[in-house]
Amino acid sequence: MSKFIFVTGGVVSSLGKGISSAAIGRLLESRGLKVTLIKCDPYINVDPGTMNPFQHGEVYVTEDGAETDLDLGHYERFTNAKITKDNNITTGKIYYSVITKERKGDYLGKTVQIIPHITDEIKHCLKKAASEQKVDVAIVEIGGTVGDIESLPFLESIRQLRLELGHDYAMNIHVTLVPYLKSAGEIKTKPTQHSVGTLRQIGIMPDIIICRTERVLSKDSKEKIALFCNVDEDAVITAVDVKSIYEVPGMFKRQNLDNLIVRRLNLKCDKSDLNNWENSVIKRLKHSKKGVEIAVVGKYITLQDAYKSIYEALTHGAISNEARLIIKKVDSEDIEKDGVRKYLSGVKGILVPGGFGNRGIEGKIQAIQFARENNIPFFGICLGMQTAVIEFARNVCGLKQANSTEFDKTTKYPVISLLDEQKEVENKGATMRLGAYECVLKKGTKAHSAYKHTNVFERHRHRYEFNNKYRNVMEDKGMVFSGFHPKASLVEIIEIKDHPWFISCQFHPEFKSKPDNAHPLFRDFIAAALS
Ligand code: GLN
Repeated sequence: MSKFIFVTGGVVSSLGKGISSAAIGRLLESRGLKVTLIKCDPYINVDPGTMNPFQHGEVYVTEDGAETDLDLGHYERFTNAKITKDNNITTGKIYYSVITKERKGDYLGKTVQIIPHITDEIKHCLKKAASEQKVDVAIVEIGGTVGDIESLPFLESIRQLRLELGHDYAMNIHVTLVPYLKSAGEIKTKPTQHSVGTLRQIGIMPDIIICRTERVLSKDSKEKIALFCNVDEDAVITAVDVKSIYEVPGMFKRQNLDNLIVRRLNLKCDKSDLNNWENSVIKRLKHSKKGVEIAVVGKYITLQDAYKSIYEALTHGAISNEARLIIKKVDSEDIEKDGVRKYLSGVKGILVPGGFGNRGIEGKIQAIQFARENNIPFFGICLGMQTAVIEFARNVCGLKQANSTEFDKTTKYPVISLLDEQKEVENKGATMRLGAYECVLKKGTKAHSAYKHTNVFERHRHRYEFNNKYRNVMEDKGMVFSGFHPKASLVEIIEIKDHPWFISCQFHPEFKSKPDNAHPLFRDFIAAALS
């Protein structure tokens, strides 16, 4: 039977609960345990697929095609856990399922209530995810902050689960903020005490407290937190700000967090071995000297989280090339106003990520033209590929009004358009081409030389596709079609023959990149930028 670690958060949001959970997953894997990680999100959307990046940040796509919270990206980057649609549970998903059952008559005669029906459904989903994946430990992260109305049913569910499963089978970790007050010259433990107090009112006693803080906690502060929050002093872990999120597993290990968990849950496992991670990731991150500046040209540039996996995958590419990544975030609307040179002169590589809608498109097209004409390594992803195709059609093939029908329904040259099957779709939720699809690579291309395989699987999230009517025209002008989805002959990867490194793909390779195993396209993009 799987054991459970429930991770809650207190005081403020954005504490790094997701990274803490992922780092704990990594630590447990380093002891030979099999883990999975599950995120519970209290919002009523069934999934984040319909949310704006300004609301939610990046939408992370799993192999099986679920649109999920970006924390699942951290889970996959830090661990080998199999992350599927079952690893993200939202209030919307739970209610949807309970209401569907109610309409079918599954609860005939009963009043359907939050307790027990909603809480039972939550517990069922958690147990199902853990047991289907046959893991030793399931780490369950509860989104939101303790004290919020929305997350109460989730907290009640984990309270019940701990009782049902028994002491050795479940534990609680609370991640909180311990602020440093400059004017007082002190760190303050009171918010943490209050937050743990709120948890206790709900009936949850944390076993371990992870304190996010700018300064290392003194022995005094740890004693105080331990005393007021009712935990052992060595169970007060300092999570001081670090330069790279990949340092967190090592930071936790040095404070014995893995031993605490292993003892508390009575887990049978190996000694910890984090050497591989430390050598292949941390050492390189710290000691790589040569810098490489990459411009990311998008429209959600001001947001930290909108291109999370892209930034991480670029970091992985830099790690694998022993280089130090410098990201220049460029708003494509600024390019429209001021021209490309102001923002892109001197950068070593240009990446245009995915996106939706018309805003900022022309700026992206200008950035791509600049990369193509000046032999600057270019990487286009999803919308980045679509805009690269539009640019090539307009400026190389002379199809001046070429466009995607997403932006201009009546365009004379619809080089990017909807497949017939998409034209009939009315609902917006979960109706794109989603998840892993096969891609067959053409030998002798840059894509093939990166992957070194002819058949790969990559994750998708889009409606529009390359319009095969224009393949010959573009091929004649030097575009190389290097990857196809075999069934429908859909174009998955394009390149430009006479260019040092110009690759664009319809899928999202950033979702499969890891710090200790960079995605081949990101690895080669950075290598090209360095040379
Ligand atoms: N808007 C484009 C489409 O739907 C691209 C989507 C994306 O970049 N993820 O096809």
